[in-house]
Amino acid sequence: MIISEKSKQHIDSCRFCWMCHHICPIGNATGLERNTARARALGLSLVNRGAIKLSEVIDNVYECAGCGGCVSVCVTGWDPVMFTKEVRLQAALEGELPEYIQKLVMNCLESGNAYGKTELIEELTAKIKEHSAKTDTLLVLGADARYMAPCQAVKAIKVLEKANVEFTVALDEKATGAQLDFLIGAANETKAQMAEMAEVMNGFETVVVYDPFDAKAIKRVYGENGVEVKAKVVTYTAFLDQLLATGKLIAENKGKTVVFQDPFQLARDLEETEEARRVVMSYADLTEMLLNRKETVWAGNILMAQYIPDVMKKVAERRLYNVTSIGQNTIVTACVSEYVSLKSIEQNEVEVLSIEDLILA
Ligand code: SF4
Ligand code: SF4
Repeated sequence: MIISEKSKQHIDSCRFCWMCHHICPIGNATGLERNTARARALGLSLVNRGAIKLSEVIDNVYECAGCGGCVSVCVTGWDPVMFTKEVRLQAALEGELPEYIQKLVMNCLESGNAYGKTELIEELTAKIKEHSAKTDTLLVLGADARYMAPCQAVKAIKVLEKANVEFTVALDEKATGAQLDFLIGAANETKAQMAEMAEVMNGFETVVVYDPFDAKAIKRVYGENGVEVKAKVVTYTAFLDQLLATGKLIAENKGKTVVFQDPFQLARDLEETEEARRVVMSYADLTEMLLNRKETVWAGNILMAQYIPDVMKKVAERRLYNVTSIGQNTIVTACVSEYVSLKSIEQNEVEVLSIEDLILA
């Protein structure tokens, strides 16, 4: 396996302090040592030394969510997300992708989303058509909302309508490249999708990105990949915060007590923790999870549920347990994928709401 010296150093620089051991949402869900960041690095270290083949650990390379929990606690500044993404790229270049990942990649290339979907539901299509006229502001819904949680996409649009925002939504929205970035890292195909999306976004003054998964890609990974975005890019939650601050969105706190699920992309990658909180606190009374803000624990996603659905269920169940263990019964999400993941659990102890649900209630 060809891999950069930087990644090799990160793979081999662990001090075995095990600080990261307790933090991995996947390792905690499965209880398997192999799912911890350090165990993944040990496997890759063996590949680098020629002791085993990449194919023997490649499934494990795709069991990481890239949530950065381990990165945030590592005393050495060690970065498992960085080398995991590089190994994914290398696996793609060497033809070593597992079949189930190759299928998702091909879907991204052929239909612009990992799920291979080509049709939107009628309600979303109609809603988007109401906002097809060109304005200064583009709302990017993202593949998860458009194809896997269209009701949430409709709600996201309705919230902006409630604030009388003039905005545009594209019926044939381009892929942001976030899914390909997750699956195969900084491949030419990923960069090409990002460049195409950037060109569209640069035709607007402001771009509001609904899904934190896409927002992280656009606000951070585009630049790392040399893709320039000239438009002002704001996350959906930061945009709502501005709408509340300027009185365009009028809130009423109905006294419901809730906890907030920080999406790791907002809390750790984009360092946005207070914007969403201010929105939630405008509509409800907020109590904090024990692990909140930068210490947030990921609650699962739609993309990984395509190939490890049982693990995603355990991840979501653990986060719901975190809610009940502090005596709470309502969790508010700001990430469409985490919303779907938490909602997929059959239970009646915790109410799962999105920020849009709170606003539109
Ligand atoms: S990035 Fe997240 S999922 Fe991946 S090893 Fe680190 S804590 Fe676990
Ligand atoms: S926190 Fe860093 S040094 Fe400690 S075990 Fe994890 S990766 Fe190794």
